[in-house]
Formats: sequence, structure tokens, C-alpha cells
Amino acid sequence: MAPDMRWWGWGEDASARHAPPDVIAWFEGELGPLNARGGHVALDDVRLDPPELPEVVRSRFAEILRDDRQARVLHARGKSYPDLIRQRAGDGAGAPDAVLTPRSHEEVRAVLDACAAAGVAVVPFGGGTSVVGGLEPLREGFSALISLDMGALDTLELLDERSQLAVVGGGIRAVELDARLAERGFTLGHFPQSYEHVSIGGCVATRSAGQASTGYGRIDDLVVGARLAAPAGDVDLRAQPASAAGPELRRLVIGSEGVLGPITQVAVRVRPLPELTRYEGWMFPSFGAGAEVLRRLEQEDIAPDVARLSDEVETRMGFGLAGLGSVRATALGAYLRARGVAHGAAAIVGWGGGEDAVRSRRETAVEVLRDGGGVAIGQQAGKAWVRTRFAGPYLRDELMDRGVLVETLETATTWTQLFRLYRAVGDALRTHAPLVACHISHVYPTGASLYFTFMAPARAGKELEQWGEVKAAASRAIVEAGATISHHHAVGRDHARYLASEVGETGVAALRALKRELDPAGIMNPGKLLPPG
Ligand SMILES: Cc1cc2nc3c(=O)[nH]c(=O)nc-3n(C[C@H](O)[C@H](O)[C@H](O)COP(=O)(O)OP(=O)(O)OC[C@H]3O[C@@H](n4cnc5c(N)ncnc54)[C@H](O)[C@@H]3O)c2cc1C
Repeated sequence: MAPDMRWWGWGEDASARHAPPDVIAWFEGELGPLNARGGHVALDDVRLDPPELPEVVRSRFAEILRDDRQARVLHARGKSYPDLIRQRAGDGAGAPDAVLTPRSHEEVRAVLDACAAAGVAVVPFGGGTSVVGGLEPLREGFSALISLDMGALDTLELLDERSQLAVVGGGIRAVELDARLAERGFTLGHFPQSYEHVSIGGCVATRSAGQASTGYGRIDDLVVGARLAAPAGDVDLRAQPASAAGPELRRLVIGSEGVLGPITQVAVRVRPLPELTRYEGWMFPSFGAGAEVLRRLEQEDIAPDVARLSDEVETRMGFGLAGLGSVRATALGAYLRARGVAHGAAAIVGWGGGEDAVRSRRETAVEVLRDGGGVAIGQQAGKAWVRTRFAGPYLRDELMDRGVLVETLETATTWTQLFRLYRAVGDALRTHAPLVACHISHVYPTGASLYFTFMAPARAGKELEQWGEVKAAASRAIVEAGATISHHHAVGRDHARYLASEVGETGVAALRALKRELDPAGIMNPGKLLPPG
């Protein structure tokens, strides 16, 4: 985690971007008048219990241990709306008793051994960006809990250029890895919206997907080896291009969310840095028409690397955020009206690679985009998306300051079921929140993801109850539709109760058995992934 990460919000003060007045005015048009600026309590006013780490652990790891206020508060939670509501209100209940930052796999092992012997729970901490309660310090019967900050395991241990393979420490941040790879002409190609802060181990533990995952693949597709420090022993899965040596244990490490042990090393596939990238905007008459085009592109194996399609509400919001709230009055508005897509759905598509490859891939895709009713709105829209692609979370802080409940959730299903799911989740959200927007950002031959953003005036002092109601309604709609409870945010604490409806009771029992075997004392990230009970 970056040392300057805001403990009450997103990112760092130095990088914070502020929404101009016309953007705030656009939200007021949708949500009604927003409050004057609220904010957060001072760090000194966060309520913390005294640290209670057993002395035997404390003294042994004094060199890599912090239990000062800042470290404990920063590591107490992730970055979901309820996490930030509690942080801002100064609720530090349950904060880790200490933060330990091991510098090697061996040191991780020593910490785990000591914690297992002393009955101390361990929560691995990567970039601290979980949005599903994955970092919640749940003690579940343990008298003490540490946050195991993986940030010092940040080496690029090997770059095998010929095999296009890198071996890295589990705590390395994605931006740092890409910077080091770029020096030698490579990239991982994994860009979640939280890219500026995530760690690679955290991405693997949560099965993340990036903005270019349609082209590069999700993290699942990029991991070719991993080292897991389970309390019972190491699971060392060497990088293999493919294997038939029994069930694929690598797949059990990917998505293990810290409950089996810390991932201390990861081997990933890397690609040459693209010579050029080209991103551009398209408008479709409707979300349905655009989705049909994405389906065709993917199934005909000609999908761009980035393929994102906003529904009509998100498109309107996008114009609002670009300062084009009254787009209808602009030249762009006239152009869109003339082509019958002024109230439609916007898409961003993008390609990377050599000049010839980008040109020919684009030409093939453009035929399908046009055939499906798409109207090109040019590279300016693509460039604007690239400029602002990581800015959304700063806007969330600002809206929260003004008393707005603002949260996201995501799911995925087959192409056949996609619009039934879209309507069911949208309807569930709209009974609680006046502004509900959605996009498709990851497409597969058999289906696609849906990512919802919802906003409502927050009920002051009752924000957590309000969030709980809307989250439960949406989760129920997802489960009833037979869709996945998470396409890329993971299970954490918030989705654990829905896991059985997705993988079945026997599936849950199999995961419990695996945990018992690898973590017999149950110290690893209690209360996450597996349903209570
Ligand atoms: C604004 C915002 C935008 C986001 N956008 C995306 C997106 O586009 N795509 C996406 O997939 N997700 C997204 N997320 C969710 C989050 O960024 C991802 O889940 C990310 O992969 C978490 O990585 P991290 O390093 O921050 O892990 P953390 O948040 O630190 O940890 C997440 C979970 O993994 C465990 N863990 C962390 N490191 C390790 C390790 N080395 N070994 C074992 N367990 C570990 C933790 O205990 C925890 O349960 C977003 C979150 C935010 C706040």
C-alpha cells in the first residue's frame, strides 16, 4: 500500500481530482440538492481499542511491526462504501492489533507459525482496495488479529523475455510491476480501475479483471504459477505452460482470498508493450443494440482489447461528467440526433499492437460495429476515457462528502439471460436508489459481465442500514436469476452467504475441507469467502 493512501477514502491527496461545479450540478439534477461539504473525523479521533497482540509475537517481530494509530486505521478496512462510511465516522472497532510487513517468504512463514501457536488471526493485505469486506478484521473467536501487509514482497524476481514470463513477489503493486516491465519493453496488461493501488497478490487472491481483459485476459488467464504460504506448509506451483498432472491446484490458489494463506510469489504471462494503442467512441441506438454487437465481435473472435458499453443512463452520466450535460445543444448532439442515436448507448473500443495489426483488426471490427447500428464518434472520446479511466473513485469521495450513497456491484451471465438479469438487478436497485447506471466491460464467447453503479441521497446516520437494504435486494435478484454473485470483485465477507447458491453445499464443504487441511487452526482471514457456520 502507498504510504500516503487516504485512510478515509480513495488514493492520495496529491492526486485527488475535484469535480467542477457543472458536474456537481448534473448530480443535483438527478438526486436533488446535495449537502454542503461533510467529510471525516481527524485521525486522532478514530476510536480504537488498545492493541492486544501477545508479547511472544510482538517482541519476536518487533523489527517489522507497527501498531501506531495510522497503521492500524489504514489497515482496518478496504474501500467499499460501508468501509468508508465507518472510517469517516471514526469507527475503528476491531482494527488490527498490529501490522506486520514481512520481507521474504521465510519471514511470512515464521509469522504464520508464531500466530498459529499464539492463536492470532491473520488478514493478508495487498493494496487495501477490497470492496467486498475482504479485509474486515473479523476475529471469530481469536483474541488478537494482525494485518499481514505484503508490500515488502515487491521484487521482480525474473523476467524470462523468451518465454514472456515474469516471476514477482506477491506484494508488488501493479503500477510498479508495469513500470519495471516497461523498462524492458513488456506489460502485464492488467488494468482494474483500482490499478494505481492494487497488488498482484491481491489481484490473484480476488480473481480480478482489468479494463483490457477482453484482449489480455483476466488475472486467471495470466497466472501460470504461484507460491502459497499455507499455515500447514508451502504449496509451490512452478510456472508451467500447461499440465495434465491432476486437477489444477493453481486454480484453487487463484481466488483463495487469503483464507488458505498468503500468496508470496506469482508467475505471470507478460506481453510486449504495444507499439500503439487506439481507443475510440461509438454510439448505438440502444444498450440492447450495442450488446448484440459486442456478442458478435466476441463470438466471431474479432473483439477489440477494450470493449465497454454503457447503458443509456450511464451514457447520459458520461456526458454529464464530461461537462456536456446539455449535449443536445452541442454540435455533437446535432450529429447524434441526425443519426438517431442521441438518446442511445455509448461504447469505447480499443486495440493495441503493431500498426498493421491494429489497422486490420479495427477494419474487421468496424464492419460489425456499423452493421449493428453503431455511429463512430471518434478518437477524442477514446482519449477522454483514457485520461479519466482511474478518476472515478475520487469523485466517489466527493459525492460522499456531499451526503450521497454511491456504490457499485457486478455480476455476469450468459448472453441469453443477460437482459433478464439487467432488468431484474436494475429494478431491485431502483426501488432504493434513483440513479442506477450499468455497463458491460468484459465479454466472453458465452456471456458478459454487468457492472452497476447506483446513487441515492444518503440517510444521515443510517447509511449502513440503507446500504444493507439495497445490497441485499440486488444480491437476491442476482441469485434468483442464477447469475454469479461476483464477476470480479470476489466474495469477501459481503457475498459469503450467497456462495452456496452458486457452488452448492457440497462445493462449499469441499472448500471447507481444503481450508481445514491447509489452515488447521483457522487463523487465515476468518469470516471471508466461506459462508458463516
Ligand atoms: C475504486 C475501485 C475500483 C475497482 N476496480 C476493480 C476492477 O476494475 N476490477 C477488479 O477486478 N476489481 C476492482 N476493484 C476491487 C479491488 O481493487 C480488487 O479486488 C483487487 O484485486 C484487490 O487487490 P488488492 O491488492 O488491493 O487486495 P486487498 O484489497 O488488499 O485484498 C483483497 C483480498 O485478498 C486478500 N489478499 C491480498 N493480498 C493477498 C496475498 N498476497 N495473498 C493472499 N491473499 C491476499 C486479502 O486478505 C483480501 O481478502 C476495485 C476497487 C475499488 C476500490
